Amino acid sequence: MVDLQGQYQSLKEQVNTSITQILESSTYINGPHVHAFQKELEMYLGVKHVIPCANGTDALQIAMMGLGLKPGDEVITADFTFAATVEVIGLLQLTPVLVDVDLDTFNIDPAAIEKAITPKTKAIVPVHLFGQCANMDVILEIAKKHNLFVIEDNAQAIGADYKFKDGRKQKAGTLGHVGSTSFFPSKNLGCYGDGGAIFTNDDELAHTLRGIVNHGMYERYHHDVVGVNSRLDSIQAAVLSAKLPKLDAYCDSRRTAAKKYSQAFKEQENIVIPITVDGCDGICEECNCHVFHQYTLRITNGKRDALVKHLNEKEIPCGVYYPIPLHKQKAYVDERYLEENFPVTNQLVEEVISLPMHTELEDEQIAYITKAVIDFVNG
Ligand SMILES: *Cc1c(COP(=O)(O)O)cnc(C)c1O
Repeated sequence: MVDLQGQYQSLKEQVNTSITQILESSTYINGPHVHAFQKELEMYLGVKHVIPCANGTDALQIAMMGLGLKPGDEVITADFTFAATVEVIGLLQLTPVLVDVDLDTFNIDPAAIEKAITPKTKAIVPVHLFGQCANMDVILEIAKKHNLFVIEDNAQAIGADYKFKDGRKQKAGTLGHVGSTSFFPSKNLGCYGDGGAIFTNDDELAHTLRGIVNHGMYERYHHDVVGVNSRLDSIQAAVLSAKLPKLDAYCDSRRTAAKKYSQAFKEQENIVIPITVDGCDGICEECNCHVFHQYTLRITNGKRDALVKHLNEKEIPCGVYYPIPLHKQKAYVDERYLEENFPVTNQLVEEVISLPMHTELEDEQIAYITKAVIDFVNG
């Protein structure tokens, strides 16, 4: 599904030099590499504050702590996402409110958000799933109208642009009150271990978050709030500094691969290619609105499971993200959830399949994969 070795080979000298430097100077934690990466990422994203932390799940949790959300506050998020999003809501004893997603984009459905709002609702967590932003024009409008926080889970869409209806472009993760991301190795900007970060343009919130990641300390050994221990280490920061200047090129490689996949699949009955909010295929020359963390098809003739088996037999990697909607996961079932409110996630879990997607995909591989998929689905 991913090829991490190819990227490493092209960065080897720089990465190895930085890591050796860290070993020689013993600045493993909070060293100059972490600070440098923080500044570089702030520049790249055009955001005032980046707060590095230990992983993407922590980033979400710390963002929610920083906003002062309290037990019992309701937080609306998508039913179709990785569990980390809802997990931290539960851990903080907030009340998760899962809602359905949009069939075309796989992202949270703004109409479903609006329907789920109650007097207890405090925040919306849109997840920019598979590499493209949720419909932020509408989500930000809803949030403003109801005075809600917007926390973007941007673990899968770092580097993507969001194009507002008025044409303005802004980086994914910097659109709401606070955004989070993950640098897990297989993410679009991945390090060689765990890592994450929080983004915000709000000076006061940034200050609060910097304390929370460091045991609630704003002054050494003065613990003003209950915090956590969540650090990005210097070695991971050095890897990320080597990769960040290449992130746009990485996104382009992914888009190029996606374009080839989509060209092969777009006329195929029973196969639905990924499309974006505006109905564009996310792969036009000027648009950077989809960075294809995953390239995900819908197989609409009931052959998805058989296709997975077939591809496995042919040793073509594939994945089903995600096979079970969160509202049906044991940890998160709740009698408030009615099946009739989740027609889309219930359908997607039966139809989606993700194909190999990374920066080193070759034409020959793509041709082999697309032929195998088409022959089987329409065979
Ligand atoms: C990967 C991921 C996370 C969690 O990131 P970790 O660094 O693994 O903790 C959270 N949300 C989404 C949507 C993800 O894909």
